[in-house]
Amino acid sequence: MTQQRAKQLVILSGKGGTGKTSLSAAFAYESTHAGMNYKTFFVDADVDAANLSLVLEAQVAEQHEFWGSSQAEIDVQKCTGCGSCESVCRYDAIFPHSEIPGVNWIDPIACDGCAACVYACPEDAISMIPQQEGFWYRSETPYGKFFHAELFPGRENSGKLVTLIKQNARLAADDQSVQLIVIDGPPGIGCPVISACAGTDLGLIVAEPGQAGMHDLQRVLGTLRHFRIPTVICINKADLYPQGTKEIYEFAETQGIEVVGEIPFDESIPLSMLQGVPIQVLYPESPAARAIHKIWHQTVNKLFQYEKQNV
Ligand code: SF4
Ligand code: SF4
Repeated sequence: MTQQRAKQLVILSGKGGTGKTSLSAAFAYESTHAGMNYKTFFVDADVDAANLSLVLEAQVAEQHEFWGSSQAEIDVQKCTGCGSCESVCRYDAIFPHSEIPGVNWIDPIACDGCAACVYACPEDAISMIPQQEGFWYRSETPYGKFFHAELFPGRENSGKLVTLIKQNARLAADDQSVQLIVIDGPPGIGCPVISACAGTDLGLIVAEPGQAGMHDLQRVLGTLRHFRIPTVICINKADLYPQGTKEIYEFAETQGIEVVGEIPFDESIPLSMLQGVPIQVLYPESPAARAIHKIWHQTVNKLFQYEKQNV
């Protein structure tokens, strides 16, 4: 019998601070307490500022180095200072050496790793040196295995690192008959968001009422649509601006997208985050916890009901 692949749910918002990580943590709790029997793994795809581990009581079980791009380096013993490398570098990364006359030097910050200079050098004096750009981890949590990462400051390979941890989560999920992978997506619409979305089965957008929230919602929806990923919306802090909430419903209707629920403004959410636990652990009867419980059921029902389709 062919084994079913785990479904992938990506949780997104157009910007940070919309409650996306609180919702991901709350979903982790729901996955083991809501009685729906879906074995679930978790991914924090916000590799530039990962924080889901802080609310999942994550214990690192494996740590791996992440080697991303390479940077060019000149062997000063071989360099004749001919200047051929400077003329092909489109990133203005090559300069005369400040301490050794007659040879060139490559600024590691400016170097993009394109390797054009390597081919231009008649003395074979330039080598591409692989760079470690961070770590990725597999951790154990009370809710299931958790894949997360840390990109070193100033590094730019966040999309590649997101793809790497998603691939490892999926391989482990295949091995262990996991049915669901919940991905806490990065904020915005950049390269790591594209990597977080690719190959997923359902996108859940956390939207906030208001003009800026509507703009963020539309931007991130554009990314999900690009990948033809079915999408649902939940509205966070829905009671703070009812007119804005109404506008999100109207927009969703015009787009044929279901709103799976509203989360009211509730101080239980930041208080539980401060304590490093999902909201249900400390405030199971709070309005937000109850709302999230319904959103979880609605979302998971949709996920397992959807077949991938053109949207
Ligand atoms: S690898 Fe590319 S960016 Fe880096 S120094 Fe060489 S030509 Fe410039
Ligand atoms: S092309 Fe090679 S030999 Fe010429 S300046 Fe650059 S590193 Fe030196």
